[in-house]
Amino acid sequence: MTSPTDVWGQLAAFSNPVPADVAGAMHRLDIEVLREVSGEDSTEFLARCPAHLALTGKPDRRPSFSVNSSSGLFNCFSCGYAGAFIDLVEDRLGLARVEAYQWIARQGVYRVRDEEEPPRPREPEERITEAALALFEAPPADALASRSLSAQACAEVGVLWRPDKRRWILPIRDPATGELWGWQEKGKRFFRNYPAGVPKSRTLFGDLTWHGQVALLLESPLDAVRARSLGIQGAFASFGAHVSEAQMRLLKERCTTLVLGLDNDAAGRTSRDRLYARWRPRGLAMKFLDYRGIAATDLGDMDDDAARSAYAGAHYPWRRR
Ligand SMILES: [Zn+2]
Repeated sequence: MTSPTDVWGQLAAFSNPVPADVAGAMHRLDIEVLREVSGEDSTEFLARCPAHLALTGKPDRRPSFSVNSSSGLFNCFSCGYAGAFIDLVEDRLGLARVEAYQWIARQGVYRVRDEEEPPRPREPEERITEAALALFEAPPADALASRSLSAQACAEVGVLWRPDKRRWILPIRDPATGELWGWQEKGKRFFRNYPAGVPKSRTLFGDLTWHGQVALLLESPLDAVRARSLGIQGAFASFGAHVSEAQMRLLKERCTTLVLGLDNDAAGRTSRDRLYARWRPRGLAMKFLDYRGIAATDLGDMDDDAARSAYAGAHYPWRRR
């Protein structure tokens, strides 16, 4: 734990303290990150502008507001609301400057670049332990059958089941230590991350101890379990179409070729092309999952033969017609 003296020592050095987990801090300020745009050294977190209504009389629908992960500076390109992260904390929570400093210090202060970003210090009350998973059980046969998943694949990546609500439990773990950070709970028309703001963009779903030649990246954890059920090793999920810099680094550490199997929809294809353009020059070989002739937009909706052939037919972009 950081003592109060240490906190004030840190603060003296930082005129513009930036939380270690900017997206998590935004969440705690009731600003939901709707999109992330990765730049060379940092990420822009896009959200609906919290000052828009007050400044323009209309809510922001775009989103027009962004916060930079490295500098902590925020800006609304539409209404001009802008400042340093501490200003945002003051405005949102109605705090004095000193209190806003203390609030940011409790989130963990950092001034290093994203690459060296330390893990967010976790408050004891929000720390999740393995005991939290004791409420859940192995997925039942009918649930497994409904998604063509094998019990073995579920067991190998720790997928559980919440029987009272009939929901999948998909653990989210520290990629370095395996420590449980939280989980995703997924049912019919239901989806939740627990705890709110769990830093899932800093890890992947899948067997994080795996290292090999070819990894497969999917959006949804259950699709990664499906791939594993089909005998495809090295299947990981990014928890969505946006794949963070940290997630790509984790993948690059684990494989020599990455098959990009993001969903075959507009968001998935845009993300895929962006990842290719950004990471190919950095030495990661990438192929695209072969959706040609397949109506399904993700691997989870394909039958076994289609899923196997989409994987076997993964191709370099220049071979694509
Ligand atoms: Zn605005």
